[in-house]
Amino acid sequence: MKRVKTVNELTEFRQQVRQWLEQNCPVSMRGAAALDEIYRGGSRETFSSDEAKLWFERMLDKGWTAPGWPKQYGGAGLSDPQVKVLKQEMKRLGCRAPLEAGQGLAMLGPALLEFGTEQQKLEHLPRIARGEVRWCQGYSEPGAGSDLANVQCRAKDMGDHFLINGTKIWTSNADVADWIFCLVRTDPDAGKQEGISFLLVDMAQPGVSVKPIELISGDSDFCQVFLDDVRAEKHNLIGEINQGWTVGKRLLQHERTLMSEIGDLSMGAASDLPECARLYIGLENGKLAESQLRMRVAQSEMNSQVLQLAQRKAFEEAKSGRVNPAATSFFKYYATEQQSVRYELMLALMGERALGWEHKRMDVSSFEDQELSVTRNWAFSKALTIAGGSSEIQLNVIAKRVLGLPDRTEGANKS
Ligand SMILES: Cc1cc2nc3c(=O)[nH]c(=O)nc-3n(C[C@H](O)[C@H](O)[C@H](O)COP(=O)(O)OP(=O)(O)OC[C@H]3O[C@@H](n4cnc5c(N)ncnc54)[C@H](O)[C@@H]3O)c2cc1C
Repeated sequence: MKRVKTVNELTEFRQQVRQWLEQNCPVSMRGAAALDEIYRGGSRETFSSDEAKLWFERMLDKGWTAPGWPKQYGGAGLSDPQVKVLKQEMKRLGCRAPLEAGQGLAMLGPALLEFGTEQQKLEHLPRIARGEVRWCQGYSEPGAGSDLANVQCRAKDMGDHFLINGTKIWTSNADVADWIFCLVRTDPDAGKQEGISFLLVDMAQPGVSVKPIELISGDSDFCQVFLDDVRAEKHNLIGEINQGWTVGKRLLQHERTLMSEIGDLSMGAASDLPECARLYIGLENGKLAESQLRMRVAQSEMNSQVLQLAQRKAFEEAKSGRVNPAATSFFKYYATEQQSVRYELMLALMGERALGWEHKRMDVSSFEDQELSVTRNWAFSKALTIAGGSSEIQLNVIAKRVLGLPDRTEGANKS
């Protein structure tokens, strides 16, 4: 286990980080990034500018694209408190993430660190940290969403490899990904959760076809993936055969942590609701002119504070190993629902000024930008309450695994 640093060591580390960031983060890499400025890695990705490349390379040299991973796997070996300090200092200066925390960095990576063999870690983790390989997540199927343990995609044991047949759906970014991690059925006769394995599959091979699904926004953020006689080498089985449910569930916890960070209220202009309210509604006697909206804004601000305090509490508890892993469901649920409420409230505050559709989401450096993007952001905030397990499923998990209530659901297994 990594040694937790003392307060003095952390203070010194903070000063070093601050100084390094100030000297090395190009000015153009500070402040909110438009969607096409985010670097996501993978064989098909290019940098949006020379400075984006320089920023990525400088961070990579420090091991700070995956700061908490051990050095031999492409990270910097920082302790959790140090990673937190780095994030805080990057946020303070407005530094953009050099590499997006996507399915590789934030989901598969931590699962591999826990369940992968040494050879699997050495093969896959450094390539993620270096942005060389982009991953997508092959969990959902047409008949297996909330009821994830119902996956039917079949992987047949062929001796030295598996042969996969089936389909995956709602696979984010499958059209630009290099590899896919999949939950597959390796024993059709075993109980629902027992016959599932966790496989890594190279998408650059015959038999893999990807069909983008067009959304109401006109974007195609996710796809259906068809796997026809696709090969996965035996050494790309993570964990034991037929024990993939354990790996898959842990990965979901990492996904939910990621989702709660995406849904974090500090992101984008939705963070500054009071300012938005002052601007669009105006003040009367020092108070927001509309009493109903005033109450809603105040309520939302309080909820945001409560969430942040709860996150801090969980972080402190985690240091002593006391945290319940299922608590990630609480943060996923609360952060994404709150984000949705806040966008709803922004629409109410902005009124007809919020009808723009021109900007892609998160391109929100000013309220003028926000006017052109808030409706898309509001629509996308609904998607975040579904992706990674819907809000209803998170409530089931909280009831069952956090509060210890009796299980009255059948089938809902994305928990
Ligand atoms: C933006 C986005 C990105 C996604 N990306 C990926 C990806 O990359 N890879 C991937 O594998 N999947 C991905 N998904 C799929 C996502 O995991 C599923 O949509 C989600 O798990 C819900 O499954 P479903 O769509 O089949 O809905 P269903 O399971 O059919 O659920 C329909 C409704 O019924 C409710 N419901 C179902 N069961 C219960 C129950 N037991 N108790 C109470 N309510 C219940 C649900 O909450 C929901 O409201 C993505 C989804 C979105 C929106």
